[in-house]
Amino acid sequence: MDGDTDIHRLDEDTVARIAAGEVVERPASAVKELVENSLDADATRIDVTVEAGGTELIRVADDGLGMSEADLRAAVRQHTTSKIADLEDLEGGVTTLGFRGEALHTIGSVSRLRIRSRPRANGDGGSATETTGTDATGTELVYEGGEVTSVGPVGCPEGTSVEVTDLFYNTPARRKFLKTKATEFAHVNRVVTRYALANPDVAISLTHDGREVFATTGQGDLQAAVLSVYGREVAASMIPVEASGDDLPTGPVESVSGLVSHPETNRSTREYLATYVNGRAITADAIRDGIVGAYGTQLGTDRYPFVVCFLSVPGEAVDVNVHPRKREVRFDDADAVRRQVDSAVESALLDHGLLRSGAPRG
Ligand code: ADP
Ligand code: MG
Repeated sequence: MDGDTDIHRLDEDTVARIAAGEVVERPASAVKELVENSLDADATRIDVTVEAGGTELIRVADDGLGMSEADLRAAVRQHTTSKIADLEDLEGGVTTLGFRGEALHTIGSVSRLRIRSRPRANGDGGSATETTGTDATGTELVYEGGEVTSVGPVGCPEGTSVEVTDLFYNTPARRKFLKTKATEFAHVNRVVTRYALANPDVAISLTHDGREVFATTGQGDLQAAVLSVYGREVAASMIPVEASGDDLPTGPVESVSGLVSHPETNRSTREYLATYVNGRAITADAIRDGIVGAYGTQLGTDRYPFVVCFLSVPGEAVDVNVHPRKREVRFDDADAVRRQVDSAVESALLDHGLLRSGAPRG
C-alpha cells in the first residue's frame, strides 16, 4: 500500500456487484430487462416463467432474432450493445427499449445465467428451408458470478432463452431485502402485464410455479389483450378512449387512447392503472389525477378503475432525462396534462352514458 491510509480501491468484482444491485433491485427488474431485450429482438412470442417469485428461477424465452456464438460472447460483456454505436445515435433518438448494454452483464454478475440462442434462419419469415451452416444449431453460454464458465453448441429453436437462477446468491445483503415470494411475484406480474397490454401483437405468457397466470394471443387488439390478462368481466366493462387535436383542451398531450372501465368495475388499488407515455410504461400524478377526476363521484374514495391508456407527448414537454429505470415522469405543465386526460376520459364516459352530466365532480 502507498503510505498510511485506510482508503483503498475496491476490486472489480466488488464494484460490479455494487453496481448490479442498483440496476437489478429485485426479480422484477431482471424480468423487465429480459422482456425488453426480447421485444427489441423483434420477437412475436415471449414466454416468461418464474419460480418462487423469481428468486429461484426466471426464464424468458423468445422467437426473436437470436444470437450467434460470437454475439453471445459479446453480449454478456459490460457496455456491449448492438443498438447504438455512439452518442450521435443516442441524440438522434433511440427506438429500442435498451441501449446501455449493461443488463445481461449485470444480471450475470449477481446470478447464474444460462443463455441458449439460435439466430433466425432468415428474416422474411420463410419456411424452414435454410438448415445448413454453422448456425443450424444454437449455442449455450453459461455465465456465473461475472465469468463465462462454458460455451458450446446446443440444439434449440430459433430465438433466445435466458435463464436466471439463484438471483443475488453472491450478494447476501441484496437477497435479504427481498420481500416474500408472493410480493416479488406481484412485481413480476405487474411488469409482464404492462408489456403484454402495450404489445397486443406479441404473444406474451406468464407462468408462476408451474401455473399459467395469463397468455395473450398476439393476434389481437388491445381489447383482446385485456381479456387475456384481466379476464372476461373486466374486458366486458371496458370502453374506448380516443381523443386528439381539437378534441383536447390546450396542453402538451397530442393524443390519448386506450380503454377505461365502467365506474362499477373498480378496485382499491392503483395497480390497474396502466399508463404509458410515448410507449413507455410510466406513472405520473398528473395522469392519475386526470383519470380519477373524470370519474368524479362515480368512484368511491380510494377506488380506482381499470385503465390502459397511451399518451403521446412531444419529447420536449416531458422530462425524458429521467433515468430509464424510473417509472415516474414529470411534465413541464402537469396541470394542463391533468386537464387533458380528465377531458378525454370524461368524454368517453359521457358518450357511454356512464356519467351524469353536470354531476358534482370529486
Ligand atoms: P442492451 O439491451 O442495452 O443493448 P443488454 O445487456 O440487455 O444491452 O444486451 C446486450 C446485447 O445482447 C443486445 O444489444 C443484443 O444485441 C443482444 N441480446 C440481448 N438479449 C437478446 C435477445 N433476447 N435476442 C437477441 N439478442 C439479444
Ligand atoms: Mg437490454
